[in-house]
Amino acid sequence: MLSSFRPWVCNVMQRVIVSSSAAGLQAACVSLQRSRARTHAAAVHVRPALSWGATLRRSYAAPSHVEEVPQQHPHLEARYAIELPHYEPRDNSDIEEVFGNVHSTESFSAVDGPGVRFLVFVQGCAMRCLFCSNPDTWNMKGGTRTSSKELAEQIKKVRNYLKPRGGVTISGGEAMLQPKFVAAVFQEVHALGLNTTIDTTGQGTKHGNWDVVLPHTDLVLFCIKHIDPLKYESITGLKQKGALRFADELADRKIPFYLRYVYIPGYTDGPKDIDKLIEWCKKQPTFQGIELLPYHVLGRNKWEVMHIPYPLDGVRTPSHETVSKVIKNFNDNDIPVICAN
Ligand code: SF4
Repeated sequence: MLSSFRPWVCNVMQRVIVSSSAAGLQAACVSLQRSRARTHAAAVHVRPALSWGATLRRSYAAPSHVEEVPQQHPHLEARYAIELPHYEPRDNSDIEEVFGNVHSTESFSAVDGPGVRFLVFVQGCAMRCLFCSNPDTWNMKGGTRTSSKELAEQIKKVRNYLKPRGGVTISGGEAMLQPKFVAAVFQEVHALGLNTTIDTTGQGTKHGNWDVVLPHTDLVLFCIKHIDPLKYESITGLKQKGALRFADELADRKIPFYLRYVYIPGYTDGPKDIDKLIEWCKKQPTFQGIELLPYHVLGRNKWEVMHIPYPLDGVRTPSHETVSKVIKNFNDNDIPVICAN
């Protein structure tokens, strides 16, 4: 458990989130509950005075040229207003033990699904996003070989801090690429009386991946990368059609999802692309809202450490005014926006 609040960077997303001590966690929970009660409220602020240069998860300092981003936007929804199903604790002896490759875990997150959540970052990803904050998660063979039962024991120790709304979120890397492991962990989580969320780009196939994981998934954080097929491929290295099929799968299964969208000047900020994204969102029957993630360069140092040329050299964090206009555009189309920056 951490001794004090500290900001850190999530793998897939381009933003800073918070971990805390037990005492700090209670304060965070109170802050979150108050925030949930406000519609069109400002972003949830459970962090102390946050600066881009603060100590980061995995110890990477921000480059000095990053712009300071103001903390308030005028058109924000409360974070993850959705209420997920309640599960009664039950005996877990019938759940199969499965091993997976885990990059890291965090006991408490306030921003990766409803309530307070235990985070599991699995190893391995088939994409090569130009803006990836954690290229160290790409290698499928890396990470620590971990038992689903051992992980359940870790989660059990903190489960009382995760209630009543929280649970476990599995992210990556790409969580869908270890389907049997994720499905086993999610079953353990339900047996502990907690809910499940997956943070994914929808990699994999229906039969090999989605059919294994989604029956045990309560909520999806779906990172769509780009709405335009060619631009999607150019920034991720993979074709978009798999992601759109995944969205169809969520609709068929009636699984709610929030869209995560990294907003990158010159790459994902085209007004026509945003309009197209808005129209797409409106057609998704289980869509709950969009989490807008303004681009930052917090993961850049990892590329340097791994001796990989950073492809977005020179791209800057979008201004507060720009981000506010995009948020307003979504809100004007009745789309709730979450944006922590
Ligand atoms: S390369 Fe993989 S881990 Fe990195 S941002 Fe893209 S989907 Fe996420």
